[in-house]
Amino acid sequence: TKEIAKEYLDSVYDTVCSRNPDETEFHQVVKEIFDSLVTVIAQNPEYMEHGILDRIVEPERLITFRVPWVDDEGQVHVNRGYRVQFNSAIGPYKGGLRFHPSVNPSVVKFLGFEQIFKNSLTGQPIGGGKGGADFDPKGKSDAEIMRFSQSFMHELGQYIGPNVDIPAGDIGVGAREIGYMFGQYKKMHGRFEAGTITGKGLNYGGSLVRKEATGFGIIYFVEEMLKQQGLKFQDQTIAVSGSGNVSIYAMEKAQELGAKVVTCSDSDGYIYDEKGIDVETVKRLKEVERTRIEDYTAEHPHAKYFDSPTDVWSVPCTVALPCATQQEIDEETANLLVENGVIAVGEGANMPTTLEAINLFKKNNVHFAPAKAANAGGVAVSSLEMAQNNMGFSWSFEEVDGRLREIMKDIYDNSSEAAETYGYAGNLVIGANIAGFLKVADAMMAQGV
Ligand code: GLU
Repeated sequence: TKEIAKEYLDSVYDTVCSRNPDETEFHQVVKEIFDSLVTVIAQNPEYMEHGILDRIVEPERLITFRVPWVDDEGQVHVNRGYRVQFNSAIGPYKGGLRFHPSVNPSVVKFLGFEQIFKNSLTGQPIGGGKGGADFDPKGKSDAEIMRFSQSFMHELGQYIGPNVDIPAGDIGVGAREIGYMFGQYKKMHGRFEAGTITGKGLNYGGSLVRKEATGFGIIYFVEEMLKQQGLKFQDQTIAVSGSGNVSIYAMEKAQELGAKVVTCSDSDGYIYDEKGIDVETVKRLKEVERTRIEDYTAEHPHAKYFDSPTDVWSVPCTVALPCATQQEIDEETANLLVENGVIAVGEGANMPTTLEAINLFKKNNVHFAPAKAANAGGVAVSSLEMAQNNMGFSWSFEEVDGRLREIMKDIYDNSSEAAETYGYAGNLVIGANIAGFLKVADAMMAQGV
């Protein structure tokens, strides 16, 4: 029954809290997912009998390591590196690396736990992992980034491999860092193992569309969600936060589909451009010059810059795409968005919306695309990159983009179907959690304790 299922989930959740004290991000994500699983557990008590939940919340392995490096002045620094190898039921561990001062065991575990279900949703054979370091790349020279990335991989490189664990990028880790890390891995092992890391450059095993994949995928997903409501992308005014890889290609695809994108941001502030953000400028500022978004106004003097990044959500929009970082939209911000007429929210970042904010959106009938479904395009194309590495040849842009589109549509269909089957029709948050969970849970059962 539902009561027994709820009791079981509550007791596992309590164990998670006492075993991982003060890890609030990790607690939130476990709670969010468990809240979605009550009916599933009630209808499938075998998951309880096999201790699936007790097992799924405990990472298979959490690796913590020292990352020493020397800055340009010759001074020695030490950071802490992490890799959580969370679940390998359906494939080798797969997930990004984040270089950001906020990285700690709680953040890595929250991201790794999400990754299990996200990766499962893609339909690809990839397990869940995540990693990173509490290193702040802001203001570091290229040489410092190289030395840090090499030192990081010198440790991590012992624990990964094409059939073991395949890292990729995340916040603070892009093509440049992936290149340095791949180079270091190659030196350590004396082998060109392309399939050991994804997001590589195109001339050494990277895949076309990987760079664009997360951003494009969000738009494909939100487009599908709007279409089901009889709404069109062309009619939308979009507010985006962030100006990294995810934001840039979400803006590009949204504009291609005819929508108007009026904002983007970085950790210092946000831009409001009523004529529509010029994505080429953002690309150059962020990917080539590696400068601040504030410089956008030098080339587009009619645009306005505000030095408070979270106020980006005070700009009226019909679709909000939080693509910066976790917990950027709280209840109060959600309320403001609703008052200003938002009809849909698509999570580009991982867990950018708090639980209270998600509930508020639901109450106000805002169509909500949860991260683990909406931003799964990135890791999905990472898996296609691995497939191409294994085969030893590459697909065309159109081929990969077509597969990405199909995967995003399948994720939408599977999530909304799962929601309906278990009595939560229309709730993609719950549907995505259920659909992602079932595949992993069944694989864990089949493989024994
Ligand atoms: N960091 C991305 C994510 O959150 C991509 C991971 C990958 O490509 O492995 O899903």
